[in-house]
Amino acid sequence: MSANSQKDYYKTLGVPKTATAAEIKKSYRDLARKWHPDANKGSAEAEERFKNITEAYNVLSDEKQRKEYDDARSMFGGGGFRVPGGTRPGSGGFGTTFDLGDLFGGSAGDSGLGDVLGGIFRRGGGTQTRARRGADVETETALSFGDAIDGVTVSLRLTGEGPCKVCSGTGAKPPSMPKVCPDCHGTGQQARNLGGFGLSEPCKTCKGRGMVVDDPCTECHGSGRAMSSRTVQARIPPGVADGQRIRIPDRGAPGESGGKPGDLYVRVKVKPHPVFGRSGSELTVTIPVTITELALGADIKVPTHHGPAVTIHIPPGTPNGRVFRVPGKGVRRKDGAAGALLVTVEVAVPQDLNKKARSALEDLRAATAGADPREDMLRRAAQE
Ligand SMILES: [Zn+2]
Ligand SMILES: [Zn+2]
Repeated sequence: MSANSQKDYYKTLGVPKTATAAEIKKSYRDLARKWHPDANKGSAEAEERFKNITEAYNVLSDEKQRKEYDDARSMFGGGGFRVPGGTRPGSGGFGTTFDLGDLFGGSAGDSGLGDVLGGIFRRGGGTQTRARRGADVETETALSFGDAIDGVTVSLRLTGEGPCKVCSGTGAKPPSMPKVCPDCHGTGQQARNLGGFGLSEPCKTCKGRGMVVDDPCTECHGSGRAMSSRTVQARIPPGVADGQRIRIPDRGAPGESGGKPGDLYVRVKVKPHPVFGRSGSELTVTIPVTITELALGADIKVPTHHGPAVTIHIPPGTPNGRVFRVPGKGVRRKDGAAGALLVTVEVAVPQDLNKKARSALEDLRAATAGADPREDMLRRAAQE
């Protein structure tokens, strides 16, 4: 805890002892921008400098702490001073009028200061920040039959973990900010003397993070992370099938420390159509026909999914259940060609016969009485 005693916070911030609050703030701003970890990727020196100037600013920007510091220095000639009030709630911080967006101009917003401080937090003492690719995200969307065939752009609402919006990921209740841990001075490590062995162990005060929060953010309880939702526009290509999984690159969770975002996977559910079915690039439809249309032949109208109905010719003596193929009326494929519409004819047996129809059918029965349609089948069954 005595390391602070040798520190000259004025020198660290490059200001005279007589500097005004505005001068201190301006100098801190310039230095913080210069030594900001984002601008000095991987530099341990920059990280150390950033922590030192933040520590100095934490003290000098607080009128009460600055006075205590000045008093201690005048008394001990620069020695013996400790950061006062390190665990006092509400102390320190960057002050209420501090403009974060201004300080890190250009990087404000979701990926701004919060991520940087969050990065320092997660990093722990001494380890380097590594760019981390965002997680892949999986979601589901329900499409109409037609949209699945034609392709559509859908709005997907994604929920995931990200920096807490209230504290920008710092974990500190705004407008306060995390402070360099007074016990380990940001290293996250503490030396411990155990029977003659010098051991280094994670700092208990900051749990190895190197920084502490006096006043935790009420939204995330100091974790700096929160569930948030965002809306993503996703283009679903034409011709997707029910249950298909579509990969949309770079639309997953955002990366950390400059890492690439993850991918988004969309599982498609296709709602059934009341008339048409689908098998790959072919559409299917079952058409009711009368017994006489099959027996005598007919031209019948068949609906298509896109455009007007088409007429198909049924030759005399067509068996029930026969499939007719109408080319080009199915699903458009990637190569631009369209599959076929498969039309199955199915006899609709009349339920309510008028007198004339009944009499005509009885005449038919009489006229065909000699032929037993099962005769051949019965004979073959008996042979085995
Ligand atoms: Zn928060
Ligand atoms: Zn610590």
